[in-house]
Amino acid sequence: MSGQVSDGSGRIELIGLDRAGLKSVLAELGEPADKRAMRAEQLWHWLYHRGATDFASMTNLAKDFRARLAERCGIFRPGIARRQVSIDGTRKYLLDFADSNRAEAVYIPDDDRGTLCVSSQVGCALKCSFCHTGTQKLVRDLGPAEIVGQILAARDDLGEWPTPANEKRLLSNIVMMGMGEPLLNFEAVAAALRIAMDGRGIALSRRRITLSTAGVVPAIERCGAELGVSLAISLHAVRDELRDELVPINKKWPIAELLAACRRYPGLKNARRITFEYVMLRGVNDSPAEARELVRLIKGIPAKVNLIPFNAWPGAPYQCSTEAAIKAFSDIVFAAGYAAPVRAPRGRDIMAACGQLRSDSERRRRSAAAESSATA
Ligand code: SAH
Repeated sequence: MSGQVSDGSGRIELIGLDRAGLKSVLAELGEPADKRAMRAEQLWHWLYHRGATDFASMTNLAKDFRARLAERCGIFRPGIARRQVSIDGTRKYLLDFADSNRAEAVYIPDDDRGTLCVSSQVGCALKCSFCHTGTQKLVRDLGPAEIVGQILAARDDLGEWPTPANEKRLLSNIVMMGMGEPLLNFEAVAAALRIAMDGRGIALSRRRITLSTAGVVPAIERCGAELGVSLAISLHAVRDELRDELVPINKKWPIAELLAACRRYPGLKNARRITFEYVMLRGVNDSPAEARELVRLIKGIPAKVNLIPFNAWPGAPYQCSTEAAIKAFSDIVFAAGYAAPVRAPRGRDIMAACGQLRSDSERRRRSAAAESSATA
């Protein structure tokens, strides 16, 4: 099955399958047809509510059935190659997949919530000029197990699987804002988010999930119709000429088409707004005239504008706007009736802030290639 992980042992990976997928695995294991739905439900509970990582602990399943599962099936977790903790409590995980590709996920604790920033691809094809991930070329898409596996690994690390003595929710929100463009890997992202939203497992409501896109217009419609999660748009410029440069996918789907797709997004109302992300680049996109144009463009869309101070990375060709410029920009947007919070950078000291993620997969791959050509 495409996008499935394999550790080379030939086991059938259960993480990432939907219920129908679990039932067909159960059929393969010889479970009678009338038992499969119930067994799938029991497995789902152990995998996604309890966070089981082995079959032996699934004590309400018959011993011989557990033994068959253990023999034939796997319960995926990415390896944690490195974990860094910021002075502000942000945790950045460098995750290792079966083919030794890597991606990062970031856990951001706040007073009222804990948000996991999840990656959808290793590297990125979009090449936004201000984004560190964009300097690493697309290596590959992540599969459903690898995407939902980031949530499972973070829960393992936070120690928050429910036990009778532990009912707290450290991980309460998901943002698809890590490495990659989620709408260029829609099927896998959708499969993973459906698992995360399932009420009998991880059980995060669609209101607690935000998907951020640079503007893959045709997939925005699918995202609304099939997932209904909150939408964030990486706008960053109000003229096509500048946006072509900052977010090159704009050449394919320019601002007018992007905003038309936003206007069609289902379920928008004041309590359910689209977030427009706008990175503040000194002298590039941060003038009062641009703030006024932004307000004009989004008129009529229930929206908020998230101003993101540019986070620097080695060799970045931009500087962050001055505090005064950010404040002036925010004031103009706010005066027009839109919330315009400035996103507090989190985990900058460990390069975990927006746009700072970049796994070393590509470099590792290159050096592996160099090694093999040296030995050839
Ligand atoms: N590809 C998706 C998901 C990435 S989300 C998207 O483009 O929306 C990451 C957010 O951080 C995006 O809004 C992105 O534009 C922004 N970002 C990227 N590099 C940044 C940087 N150096 N400083 C601040 N924000 C950045």
